[in-house]
Amino acid sequence: MALLGLLLLTLIYLRGAQGDTPNLVLFSVDDEIVSEAWQAAYYDTIQSSGISNPNGCKPPITWFTSKGPDRGDCDTALLAYSAGHELATHTVTHPELPGLSYDEITAEVAGQREWLIDCGIPAEAITGFRAPYYKTDDTVTQVLIDLGVQYDSSKADDSPTQQAYSTGSLWEVPAYTLPGGDRRSDPQPEDGMSVLERLQAAFESKRGSGAPVSILVHEPCKLSNRDDIVAFLSWAFAQDNTWGITYQQYISWLEAGAGDIASVLSNYTCGS
Ligand SMILES: [Zn+2]
Repeated sequence: MALLGLLLLTLIYLRGAQGDTPNLVLFSVDDEIVSEAWQAAYYDTIQSSGISNPNGCKPPITWFTSKGPDRGDCDTALLAYSAGHELATHTVTHPELPGLSYDEITAEVAGQREWLIDCGIPAEAITGFRAPYYKTDDTVTQVLIDLGVQYDSSKADDSPTQQAYSTGSLWEVPAYTLPGGDRRSDPQPEDGMSVLERLQAAFESKRGSGAPVSILVHEPCKLSNRDDIVAFLSWAFAQDNTWGITYQQYISWLEAGAGDIASVLSNYTCGS
């Protein structure tokens, strides 16, 4: 019996040592879905880092889109979707939402979703939302629930290892901060740390927890620390069991019990 117990303990140890819990990276782009943004975010950042997921697929981006007068291009949206990326909403005209009426907020959120559907994105594939400037309130939350939105990603995290959570009617995927500062979009050097060091510190603070590192970018053509982000991606994906996934995929993984991520991703288009 003792021998059997020892054998079981050894197996459990080996399983843990192999790192069952994946290291997750969520890369999102806010505002634009146009060819210049696609080039800058996907080719010049993700692809140029040379990374792949352990299943051989290219890590996809989650695009929180706002069509504005010139920020949305259907061809680019369809290109992203066909490559396995996620298209989510970020309002039509990018206003500050708190202070607007329920109907005005509804028009902003539903209108952007309609634009994506008119582009040819399947309605059921559009499930996420992020508020412009991360500014949200109870009315915004109610609109999201009433529109059947699956998740919001506008609130900051309480801690680096906080997972996405569901209130029963809406998931919240925290828009995580990085060590060294509170500003969430477009990481800058802070507190004596380079962007690479901040991202690596975030990765280490989450390692083994299953909570993702989020890289939050807007207007990727203007991204000033691209080299550090590319260097981070190369480093992170050289670590065992690191996966770049969409926000939807992250929620699917949690809903499936936070186990084998490869089997969850087998339900999605393999990024190319
Ligand atoms: Zn924005």
